[in-house]
Amino acid sequence: MNIDAEIFPVSQYDAAALVLARELPDTWLTRAEQERAASLGASGARFVAGRLLARQLASTMLQLPAEELTIQTSCATCSSTLHGTPELVLTRSDAPGFVKYQAPRWAMSVSRSETHVLVGLVTTPRQQLDGRVSIGVDLTSTDTKGESTLRALDVSFFEEEGLWSVPTRAQWWAMKEALGKARGTGIVPTVPNIFDPGGFTPADINRAHVSPAMPSVPGHVSCGVVLYEKSGELELERRQLFLK
Ligand SMILES: [Zn+2]
Repeated sequence: MNIDAEIFPVSQYDAAALVLARELPDTWLTRAEQERAASLGASGARFVAGRLLARQLASTMLQLPAEELTIQTSCATCSSTLHGTPELVLTRSDAPGFVKYQAPRWAMSVSRSETHVLVGLVTTPRQQLDGRVSIGVDLTSTDTKGESTLRALDVSFFEEEGLWSVPTRAQWWAMKEALGKARGTGIVPTVPNIFDPGGFTPADINRAHVSPAMPSVPGHVSCGVVLYEKSGELELERRQLFLK
């Protein structure tokens, strides 16, 4: 069910080309990010570009200095801080408008392709929300390489949800990824079913199809999913889906 924006935490989305990260200082990186980049070898540069741009985009959305925003990850399974669900954290403890010594934290999600990065951010800090929120975004390429990868998947993968006639395979994949990220499960090894009780109905997906909330990224489809569980309510989870 897509919920009225008035009673749902506001999320924002933006994307940028990875090459733009050349303008940004890598002194912004945290120690964990430096370690992760080093462990990634050849793809480390793309990881670094994605992180720098994600911070720049978040900075614009929140009107806060990028050098004071960090992306911190934590893994619910093994407690590692080197991977897992990302969160945006303001490192300054005395920022105006925030409770002193309680570093504001925002739910965020980042997706990188070969050429672009997409960021989704719940712009209300977790501390100011009455309940739990999570967000997942995905950027899926529609180029021939991406198409052939999706085409190579077992056809039952698609038939299972009867989605052939609704979105394209790239859109379908982006929805799966975004939902998996929002749930914190990821898409592998358990591929989330978009239509299960915690998922979406075909009507939600149709309504979300041309959401202006998502940026247009040349050669890609993008999807954002927000899950919100309000404190003390019987309804377990509210869900939003944006797709472009
Ligand atoms: Zn882990």
